[in-house]
Amino acid sequence: MEELIRLKNLRKVYRMGDEKIVALNDITLSIEKEEFICLLGTSGSGKSTLLNMMAGLEKPTRGEIIIGSYPIHKMNERDVTKFRQKNVGFVFQSYNLIPTLSALENVSLGLTFQRIPKSKRDKMAKKMLTDVGLGKRLHHKPSEMSGGQQQRVSIARAFVGTPKIVFADEPTGNLDTKTTMEIMNLITGMAYESNQTLIIVTHDTEISVYGHRIVYLRDGSIEKVEENQNIIKGEAN
Ligand code: ADP
Ligand code: MG
Repeated sequence: MEELIRLKNLRKVYRMGDEKIVALNDITLSIEKEEFICLLGTSGSGKSTLLNMMAGLEKPTRGEIIIGSYPIHKMNERDVTKFRQKNVGFVFQSYNLIPTLSALENVSLGLTFQRIPKSKRDKMAKKMLTDVGLGKRLHHKPSEMSGGQQQRVSIARAFVGTPKIVFADEPTGNLDTKTTMEIMNLITGMAYESNQTLIIVTHDTEISVYGHRIVYLRDGSIEKVEENQNIIKGEAN
């Protein structure tokens, strides 16, 4: 297996006035290409901080983040933004869709940076929305859709450009149990189809079964890493 992401002695300290908050402490981890990783931990354990750091959204206080041949921690904002637009897709707990745009426009927007003509973007967005089961909701605005449907739109947006890595931060945190399972099957199924690397943050042990490996975070440190015996590497469940 080929290493894709390497985290070395990562540390993140936030300063709030006189107070020092150690959000991440000495994180070292290697993630392989096409691996599904679940970052599991209680609220405040540093999951989102770690995810944002891997995506280049925040700089570490100390340590290294290397993705492929890119030293993310050393790159300037412009280069990191370019890297992200080309290589990374995001799914958030609160969907983060643009309320004034239709489902189609929200998904198509994700491709604007890739110099793809509008007609082609719309075609790709339409296919992606059909793939996530929203072929009949193309022109609906987020407020005209259920939570599960909105998350499907955001999944379509994350996957439409077939990024190498998809990050999901508590993607089912606002959904009921049945919808949670549908959404998790959709995310893992799509990542599997396109040989993508998937990193999912959750506080829910039931979600963690979708990972090839489960990384337990506690107070900003890795407590343990567990191989998932019930999933065969490289296969969707
Ligand atoms: P999780 O996603 O696991 O709930 P976070 O990564 O959001 O945890 O937060 C880890 C710790 O860092 C928490 O104690 C949180 O309060 C703190 N923290 C996160 N972001 C900031 C910030 N921008 N400024 C100050 N403290 C922060
Ligand atoms: Mg969080």
